[in-house]
Amino acid sequence: MFQAFLIKYGEIAIKGKNRYIFENALVRQIEFALERVEGEFHITKEQGRIYVHADSDYDYDEAVDALTKVFGIVGICPVVIKEDEGFDKLAEDVLTFVDEQYEDKNFTFKMMARRAKKTYPMDSMEVNAALGEKILDKFPETKVDVHNPEVKIFVEIREQINIYSEEIPGPGGMPTGTSGRAMLLLSGGIDSPVAGYMVAKRGVTIDAVYFHAPPYTSERAKQKVVDLAKKVAVYAGPIKLHVVNFTDIQLAIYENCPHEELTIIMRRYMMKIAEHFAKEDGCLGLITGESIGQVASQTMQSLQCTNEVCELPVFRPVIAFDKNDIIAISEKIDTYETSILPYEDCCTIFVAKHPVTKPNLKSIKKSEMKLEGKIEDLYKTAIETTEIIEVK
Ligand code: ATP
Ligand code: MG
Repeated sequence: MFQAFLIKYGEIAIKGKNRYIFENALVRQIEFALERVEGEFHITKEQGRIYVHADSDYDYDEAVDALTKVFGIVGICPVVIKEDEGFDKLAEDVLTFVDEQYEDKNFTFKMMARRAKKTYPMDSMEVNAALGEKILDKFPETKVDVHNPEVKIFVEIREQINIYSEEIPGPGGMPTGTSGRAMLLLSGGIDSPVAGYMVAKRGVTIDAVYFHAPPYTSERAKQKVVDLAKKVAVYAGPIKLHVVNFTDIQLAIYENCPHEELTIIMRRYMMKIAEHFAKEDGCLGLITGESIGQVASQTMQSLQCTNEVCELPVFRPVIAFDKNDIIAISEKIDTYETSILPYEDCCTIFVAKHPVTKPNLKSIKKSEMKLEGKIEDLYKTAIETTEIIEVK
């Protein structure tokens, strides 16, 4: 029955003169999301509204699913659009709509007419009263309830007439591409995909970097990260994933530095390399999945030591989240099942038995001096041999 969707958007409506930039980004992201849906669509913008029109048969569930993943969308209303051919025709269309939409007519309803076209001969109140009566006559099981209706039937009289009664929630947030770019440190774990999703939801375009350590970490562990990037890309759009071979740097740290400081020093090198690619790609910040106190390398002291190597701001959207809260989001965005696959992670292979939980920055820097003369070449090689995967 539905050949169109009325797209409701929230925050972007309040952005003043920038509004059209946000609307255009939203249209672009909707087009991108619908590319993977069977059917032909086109999108129109009119009077502060966005419509998705189907130009062919299409898969309704797939289309709705794709739209519920476009940041910036607050609600998706499957809508019937009709020409204005007088009230009698309108009444007929509304009755057909109710009949087809609700097999079981045992519901309470309220008419929500709005007359945007001021030349229409009846005002909103009159339209409401007349249509309400027609529905009650035709479907005697229905009842009117103006305070707490189960169904609100919207009839908007514009150049054309819009009839709809359902609003499927969208993800909210802001359209991807409206807030600059940031570099996500993406591991195979639960937290970093969630962190990337959260920042992307604010309109930020995501690039990613993954550190792998062959042969200690397998091809399957890398594939898992590519798969996670794909899942984040469903929301965030295409992701340029940098795969850095981190083995030699890790071995050098392992051989030269105190083992209890391994993780912190390694994390500092990860941040440095991530920042290198971030700057190259014009990113305005780094993103990690760190959360205070979750592991030794995420105490306040450890975070301070890791942060110290970066010039760019580091965004840690799950910093104050409990693991359960992070898991809940990962389940919602469908990354959880992939994240818990049991492949090894470079952080767990070179892990010390008793890592420092309150690292001292001076001591860390002193340990890092033991790498001088060796690490510079390894750092350069790691950057030069980085593989780039365009994840869609
Ligand atoms: P996650 O679930 O995101 O892996 P975690 O709880 O396992 O997090 P750590 O392993 O300490 O925590 O990593 C902290 C953060 O550092 C991660 O959220 C991620 O942003 C980054 N990180 C860790 N390992 C890697 C890696 N191999 N490649 C890229 N980023 C990584
Ligand atoms: Mg991890």
